Amino acid sequence: MILILLGAPGVGKGTQSENIIKKYSIVQISTGDILRSEVKNETDLGKKAKQFMEKGELVPDDLIIKMIEKRISQPDCINGFLLDGFPRTIEQAKSFDKMMEEKGLNLNRVIYIDVADDEIIDRLTLRRVCPTCGAIYHLKNKPPKQDMICDICGSKLIQRSDDTKETVKNRLKVFKEHTKPLIEYYDKQEKLSSISGLGTVDEVFSRIKDILGNR
Ligand code: AMP
Repeated sequence: MILILLGAPGVGKGTQSENIIKKYSIVQISTGDILRSEVKNETDLGKKAKQFMEKGELVPDDLIIKMIEKRISQPDCINGFLLDGFPRTIEQAKSFDKMMEEKGLNLNRVIYIDVADDEIIDRLTLRRVCPTCGAIYHLKNKPPKQDMICDICGSKLIQRSDDTKETVKNRLKVFKEHTKPLIEYYDKQEKLSSISGLGTVDEVFSRIKDILGNR
């Protein structure tokens, strides 16, 4: 199974990815997570990407496309994978189509998760993440049991540097300009399913299961 999760930042792609990969036994590929780890390790790619990420701008297509090509060629992708945060431009989508064709693979479905802007701003500015295990919290809706401490591994939670109000607004603008056109792109390929991202994590996940099948 090869899937794409499409949606503005903060609609719950990361959270739903965790549910999907467990249920359907596929791997998650989050370009944001890969980039953050490259930045942390101060690699060449990380150094180039950092300046764009901090402003909420997109990292240039050629860097992202090379990164994805390398990642989907790894052996753990053989049973399928879920792309979270890629593609984000028509250029990336076209390159991905080409990669899939060359590998003789088929993209099964693109799930678009829709949430209104006001709700997204609230979700992202109050989001806190665990830098060690990646767990995601929300100060109002899903606070950690102990103030700012990860329930799972005990690390101190942080706010992502691009989750501040100004940067979030820019990320939403970038989404509208560059990524939203992908909805039409995949609709034309008859691969698109749209769902609302409102409600509990379980409610949103059951909408996803309705699309992918309850196997
Ligand atoms: P995310 O965690 O998916 O919100 O990504 C965080 C940041 O990484 C984005 O704001 C971009 O700067 C960068 N990024 C992640 N995925 C991509 C992509 N497919 N194309 C360009 N930039 C990306």
